[in-house]
Amino acid sequence: MILEFNKNAFILLKRIIAFIFNKQGTTVTMDDTTTIQGPTILPSAKGSVIMDVRAITKSLPLGRERIDILKGISFQIMSGEFVSIIGPSGSGKSTLLGIIAGLDNPTSGQVLIDDVNITKMSEGQLAAVRNSKIGMVFQAYNLIPTLTAQENVEVPLYVGRHKGSPSARARELLELVGLSHRLGHRPSQLSGGEQQRVAIARALSTDPAIVIADEPTGNLDAKNGENVLELIASLRERTGKTFIIATHDPAVASHADRAIRIVDGLIASIDTSEGRRQP
Ligand code: ADP
Ligand code: MG
Repeated sequence: MILEFNKNAFILLKRIIAFIFNKQGTTVTMDDTTTIQGPTILPSAKGSVIMDVRAITKSLPLGRERIDILKGISFQIMSGEFVSIIGPSGSGKSTLLGIIAGLDNPTSGQVLIDDVNITKMSEGQLAAVRNSKIGMVFQAYNLIPTLTAQENVEVPLYVGRHKGSPSARARELLELVGLSHRLGHRPSQLSGGEQQRVAIARALSTDPAIVIADEPTGNLDAKNGENVLELIASLRERTGKTFIIATHDPAVASHADRAIRIVDGLIASIDTSEGRRQP
């Protein structure tokens, strides 16, 4: 039982590393079982559908049993939307984010990004989708401790062979997140809030259409958490990118256009009134 848990945690860790460096990771085989169809949540905003999540389930072996983590999750996200995925700890948010970011495979169901089904892709194809379309932000920042803020933001640009000067791009992004005075600082020389800003700049470096963040304020105090959320909201305004943020903190929802609430692996509700920020 512990072995199974560790194996899955190890696969996910490899995939997270693959995400940061965009290298090939392990392929997890899909095991298509019966699909439990949940309600489809239609978007409120106008525009094109950038992400179409269809009847996602995820179950994992736990000893001789299987546990159902996601039980049929469907929703669509429009280009330029800021959506929060909220729910109590253990409800399946991180599992869902891993699947929509192409880090993990669902047991059944599909994820379409710009009308392309990513759920049956090879690791190489997934790496290409991640590098061109998705930026990821983690609760624990996951910066490389020996690199400066600027170098951390440059890393995805070197790996993915992007056009232009990585150092100029990194400086521009660190300015965008309000850190132009911290270019040469290493993570240990930065506050938690600053480290998360660097991680957000890194997520934006490859100019992805979608930024996915898992509990981005989870390690921050209330004030720094609020600052990071305001930064994300303003980046959404300025860049027009799509932001998807998972959190157990209901306060985050007040910054988003919509809050999709997940309880026990199912969508419990969708909230646009509480979630929508008044202009
Ligand atoms: P959240 O991010 O909402 O806190 P998670 O997606 O991390 O929830 O986890 C949802 C449920 O799935 C939890 O009960 C968790 O213990 C379980 N779980 C997550 N990853 C694994 C795994 N690799 N193996 C077995 N169970 C897991
Ligand atoms: Mg989580």
